[in-house]
Amino acid sequence: MDHFRITPDTQVDLSQHDPYYSGEISKKKGRALLKDHRQALMDLQELLYAENKRQVLIILQGIDTSGKDGVIRNVFGDVNPQGTHVVSFKVPTRHELAHDYLWRVHQHTPAQGDIVIFNRSQYEDVLVVRVHDLVPEAVWEKRYQHINEFERLLVDEGATILKFFLHISKQRQAERFLARLDRPNKRWKFNPGDLDERERWDDYQAAFEAMLSKTSTPWAPWYVIPSDRKWYRNMAVASIIVEKLNSLEMQFPKEVPDIESYRDQLIGMIED
Ligand code: AMP
Ligand code: MG
Repeated sequence: MDHFRITPDTQVDLSQHDPYYSGEISKKKGRALLKDHRQALMDLQELLYAENKRQVLIILQGIDTSGKDGVIRNVFGDVNPQGTHVVSFKVPTRHELAHDYLWRVHQHTPAQGDIVIFNRSQYEDVLVVRVHDLVPEAVWEKRYQHINEFERLLVDEGATILKFFLHISKQRQAERFLARLDRPNKRWKFNPGDLDERERWDDYQAAFEAMLSKTSTPWAPWYVIPSDRKWYRNMAVASIIVEKLNSLEMQFPKEVPDIESYRDQLIGMIED
């Protein structure tokens, strides 16, 4: 999965990343792998929570219909809700806009022992904000470096950060919008404004490329995930998270001394 990782300080050209890529594996195999990864993630999250020493932050970005919600459901569906939080960043409120753009984000970064998943993030402030000229270029241009330094701070304080860009084709987006309209229980997800955003597809791709080029750092790397096929996308994200969490070599806290004497006491308390 390492080849999805963006090397720091490289110029990313998304047209060179195939959103339909699925390696050599079949859908059946991909689904079986996802199942294994979900199980592993469940155990790793328990260990993270028990160890209570470090924080894990997972950031999901991608254009509408790229599958941010789908990843949350399919990858994290088995983890214990205690110790796992999802934060979805929407259009900032007036109160939020009265502060610097990282203020609302910092309030939600994970505590020790926790996994926090950001559904959209601080990166909206160099994506939608850039595409729609919500602030002048001289303002958003500085944010790439702010964000790198903000993430550095979190990592220096014990966090592990993984960032996933869910990459889909323009064709696939149209198909997924259509699927939303065709399914009554998915229609609520469709918002006519989404089609106006689609008109700005090229501007978004350019903003994504700038984000990936400037903010994939050794301490908080971006992964560009081929996401035209949902099963591959889910499997790839899960696999990268599991690999990273495994590499942390987390340990359960030290056992209390004298387990045996406590066992004996407890056995004595249980009546036959
Ligand atoms: P959804 O993820 O579909 O619920 O939509 C959330 C909306 O909030 C998207 O259109 C985002 O672009 C928008 N949004 C999130 N963060 C910001 C931000 N910092 N500034 C402006 N719009 C934002
Ligand atoms: Mg939406």
